[in-house]
Amino acid sequence: MVTNLSFTTAVIFLALAMFLRYLFFSGSAYFIFWKKLKDKFAQRKLNFAPFQKNQIKKEILYSFNTTIVYGLVLGALLNKNVVSHTKVYFDVSERGWGYFFLSLVIIFVFHDMYFYLSHRLLHTPFLYRKVHSVHHSTLSPDPWTSYSFHFAEALSLVLFMPLLIMAIPVNFWALNIFGVGTFLFNVVGHLGYEIMPKNYMKFGLHNFMNTATHHSLHHKYPNSNYSLYFNYLDRLFKTNHRKYSTELSNMLKKEVL
Ligand SMILES: [Zn+2]
Ligand SMILES: [Zn+2]
Repeated sequence: MVTNLSFTTAVIFLALAMFLRYLFFSGSAYFIFWKKLKDKFAQRKLNFAPFQKNQIKKEILYSFNTTIVYGLVLGALLNKNVVSHTKVYFDVSERGWGYFFLSLVIIFVFHDMYFYLSHRLLHTPFLYRKVHSVHHSTLSPDPWTSYSFHFAEALSLVLFMPLLIMAIPVNFWALNIFGVGTFLFNVVGHLGYEIMPKNYMKFGLHNFMNTATHHSLHHKYPNSNYSLYFNYLDRLFKTNHRKYSTELSNMLKKEVL
C-alpha cells in the first residue's frame, strides 16, 4: 500500500514521478507545437513578448525544484499516520461514483478560487519582487514554463492539497485525476499557441473557460488575467485585460494551416 512507504521513499518517488510527468507532458507539447506542427500553427503563435535566451534551461531547473517541494509536502501527506487524520478514502464504493465525479467538480472549483486568491496575493509588491517574479521572468510562455516557480510559490500552490483533504472527503484516485488535469491545463495555458477552435467565442465559451491567450497576456501585462481555469473571477473583479477579447478574437480568426 502506498501509505506504507517511508517518508524519504515517498518523497523521492513522488518528486521523480512529477518531474517525469513534467518532462513527458511539457516535452510532448513542446515537440508537437514548437517543432512538428510549428508551420501549421504559425499564425496562432502568441508573440506578445520576446522569447529569451536560456529561457527553457532556467524553466526546467525551477520546475525541478518545484517537483521537490511538491514531493516533500505530498510525501508527508501520504504517510498512513497522517492520511488517517484526513478525509481521504481509498475505496470508491464507500461513497459511490456519483460523489466521486461531484467531488472532482468541487475540487476544480475550490482550486480555481484558491489559485485566484493566492495569485492576487503573489502580485502584491513584496511577494511579487521576492517570489512571483521568478515565474514572470518568462515574458513569453512556452510549455516548459508550467512548473517554473520560486520554491515559496510552489509551496503556496501545493498547500491547497492538505487544506482540501481536511475539508472534504476525496477519493485517492480523484486526487490523482485532479493532479494530472490541473497540470495539463497549466501546460495548455503556457503553450505559447492559441489552439481553441475558431468559433470558441461565438458560443461565449471564453467567458467560461480560459485560454492560452488569456495567460500569455498575463505574462505580458502582469496586473491582469489572474484566474486559472474559469474566467468568472476575472470578470467579477474586473481584472480581465481590456485587450483580452480583441486579442483572442483576432487570434481565433487566424487559420490553422
Ligand atoms: Zn504563467
Ligand atoms: Zn502572475
